[in-house]
Amino acid sequence: MLSVTSFESIQDHVSHVRQVFFSGKQRDLKWRKHQIQRLYDLVAENEERLIEAMYFDMNKPRNEALVGDIAPVLDECLYFLDNLDALAKDQKVKPRSIVNKTAKAIIRKDPLGVVLIIGCWNYPVQLSLLPLVGAIAAGNSVILKLSEVSPYTAAVITDLFPKYMDTSCYRIVNGGVEQTTALLKERFDHIFYTGNGTVGKIIMEAAAKHLTPVTLELGGKSPAIIAHDADMQLSANRIAFGKFFNTGQICVAVDHVFVPEHRVNEFVAAMKITLEKWYGPNPQESESYGRIIADRHVDRIEAVLNNRTSGEIAIGGQIDKSDRYMAPTVVVNVKYDDAALMSDEIFGPILPVISYKEIDEVIGLINKREPALALYVFTNKEKLAEKVLRNTQSGGVSVNDCLVHQAEYSMPFGGVGGSGMGNYHGVKSFDTFTHERSMLVKKQAMEGTNNVRYPPYTSRKLSI
Ligand code: NAD
Repeated sequence: MLSVTSFESIQDHVSHVRQVFFSGKQRDLKWRKHQIQRLYDLVAENEERLIEAMYFDMNKPRNEALVGDIAPVLDECLYFLDNLDALAKDQKVKPRSIVNKTAKAIIRKDPLGVVLIIGCWNYPVQLSLLPLVGAIAAGNSVILKLSEVSPYTAAVITDLFPKYMDTSCYRIVNGGVEQTTALLKERFDHIFYTGNGTVGKIIMEAAAKHLTPVTLELGGKSPAIIAHDADMQLSANRIAFGKFFNTGQICVAVDHVFVPEHRVNEFVAAMKITLEKWYGPNPQESESYGRIIADRHVDRIEAVLNNRTSGEIAIGGQIDKSDRYMAPTVVVNVKYDDAALMSDEIFGPILPVISYKEIDEVIGLINKREPALALYVFTNKEKLAEKVLRNTQSGGVSVNDCLVHQAEYSMPFGGVGGSGMGNYHGVKSFDTFTHERSMLVKKQAMEGTNNVRYPPYTSRKLSI
């Protein structure tokens, strides 16, 4: 089982990896690539153990673990193995200022120093190791705080880590809120946090004490819109994927869906067809359907359903607490200001359906909230999609699909406003963990030319 890091050792871990950072070891690109290769091996050679651990944590179906956790980390490692030399290369710039004409102007891609990465439990491999790849690539020392909410996965990563990685500069800290709080007292050069906005504020406040920059990968109530013209069965399939993959426990999951009022029955019928096809008559017996991570989250999501102030359950609604099972659930006739369903991010398998007449009404409602992490729109009309995108905000967007923009690792991933700040994946991870150090290098020659900028400031000098 997962053993917790002692409070006494936390400070030592941080100061040790900082000391090693200043030894300059991580500056060597070959060395960084070797560490990235070792991280690749850690995941590739232990895929089965990691998949099994995620099954123990949340019954994560094998396919979802492979697609959502294992493959992204392997892919990110390969990306950096192929591209690190080019990314880390000094960038030469042509000086603009007359006094620097003969100097070398260089932007050096310096590591930030010691980075704290705080992972999250819903994708316990991806959300811990994927930012780690970027931090290693950029040459940093790292303290990795794994999520205590997915203890089986955290235990396997903790066991494997010293067998593969150089623990003089990369260290794991395990534990709960107390350990995270103790960590946050230390000074880091960057904090990368994935989780909810309430804790995001705590992280930012702690970081501010040391003027530490943060990346906050948060969540929000991501809407999907089915336009009047959309193919309903296709929309239902893709929205089901966006809602019930990982049992709705995804930061970019569809939180609620807007459906034209005359097409709500059609949507429910289409969703029934999809769910029956995917999970059979009883999703609890399906190997393709996961479970809620912890009892307290089952209680939380159950309360959201029971305390709703509008809507009727059209599909699902069954809960088996002993199995942490919640059926894929669709609630229709939900009011946008429902006190339970529409207050916080649901982060579970309940889909509120809100009916509408005109798209402008939907845009107005979306803009009443903080920008969400994702926004989905289903339509064949490009102009309509463009109208929605131009008049709303969100971290990212998929048109005519769900989740897939997050999984396109060639694009930046991150939130805006209440859904987070900063971004990562591929080149953006490298940028996130890099300081662009401007360096102007001059020769000790032609001192006479500098007279023009030295006092006394005569009128002749000013006229040059
Ligand atoms: P969580 O509560 O487990 O928090 C994650 C980390 O924060 C843990 O390491 C925990 O120890 C620490 N923590 C929790 N409370 C703390 C406190 N009071 N002080 C200091 N540290 C504390 O994670 P969660 O909030 O249950 O995760 C779900 C949320 O994360 C959802 O809102 C979801 O949208 C978001 N999320 C975002 C992304 C993304 O990439 N943007 C990915 C996954 C999840």
